[in-house]
Amino acid sequence: RTLRVAIMGLGSYGTRVAEAIQDCKRTKLVGVISGTPSKITAWQSKYNIPAKNCYNYENFDAIKDNPEIDAVYVITPNGLHKSQSIRVAQAGKHVICEKPMAVNALEAQEMVDACDKAGVKLLIGYRMHFEPNTLEIVRMRKAGELGTPLFFQGLSGFIIGDPTQWRLDKELAGGGAMMDIGIYSINGARYMLGEEPVWVTAQETKNNPEKFKEGVDETIQFQLGFPSGAVASCLSTYSMNNLDRFFLNGNKGFAELLPATGYGPIKGKTHKGPLDKPHTTHQTVQMDEMAAIIFDGKTPELPVDGREGLKDMKVIDAIFQAVRTGQKVKLDLV
Ligand code: NAD
Repeated sequence: RTLRVAIMGLGSYGTRVAEAIQDCKRTKLVGVISGTPSKITAWQSKYNIPAKNCYNYENFDAIKDNPEIDAVYVITPNGLHKSQSIRVAQAGKHVICEKPMAVNALEAQEMVDACDKAGVKLLIGYRMHFEPNTLEIVRMRKAGELGTPLFFQGLSGFIIGDPTQWRLDKELAGGGAMMDIGIYSINGARYMLGEEPVWVTAQETKNNPEKFKEGVDETIQFQLGFPSGAVASCLSTYSMNNLDRFFLNGNKGFAELLPATGYGPIKGKTHKGPLDKPHTTHQTVQMDEMAAIIFDGKTPELPVDGREGLKDMKVIDAIFQAVRTGQKVKLDLV
């Protein structure tokens, strides 16, 4: 069965996803939700989308009466994800929502609850969970090829441009670099080590308070402790480039991804040699896998459901609390 998707938010990532869907085997772009009529017209002609599958942010609840749409992919600013996802769920459609799924754990929990109540799936756009070299490291770690995993390092950052963009607006972004890019190191620490963190410490540096206003983090270093005794040390920043690296070390071997989370190709090596799984467009694979999750009940190797997203939001809440208080914050994600 083909997953018929409407994209909400026709911005830069929405555009990338739309292009990637064109190569999907069992996912089809059939609708759009946008506040900009000119974009709707352009997408209609480019992707052959009928007028009856086009909505705006005011009227999209009517999607409940549209049997030609199975799911809505929410690709709007973070601060809008919760209310938009809940409206989609209440319209009886499956929700695919971009990361970060919300701006805090409370919101994320509300989304999980609303989708449960509506009987629809909630999936988060964790495209790395389907990336072959990433999965190869996870396989090696599970097979014991690295020995006991003891340390993960995640470096996530880039220099952000235009100071007026929504990513630097507390209301729309929910924070700064952590929500946008630091989340990759959080998520990566969890899937690379294969455990849930039980404590967090964190330190913030802000060198440009003009650009990074109150509640918008510029640079945060954070550390995560895991039940086995493994630790993670991570950097999240909007002020430095060349930061997209994962390093996992066990007592018998190591794995490195560099770049670790970009659009690819993802490259890396282990103590056994280079990682050589072929590059595939992340979003194409993700969407076809999501079709299988929704229609076949497939369980992916690394979860992408709302509860997985909620865990990252709990870690982010704890990181912000650790920054505020200077204290080690305990976590219970299980
Ligand atoms: P963008 O600014 O390019 O697009 C956002 C879209 O939302 C625009 O089309 C804009 O018109 C629309 N929008 C609707 N209401 C808005 C409002 N009130 N204010 C501002 N814009 C509004 O952003 P993007 O880069 O496409 O990011 C969108 C989401 O996708 C974010 O949650 C981001 O974290 C996520 N994202 C994920 C990845 C990934 O690799 N998984 C990559 C990029 C972005």
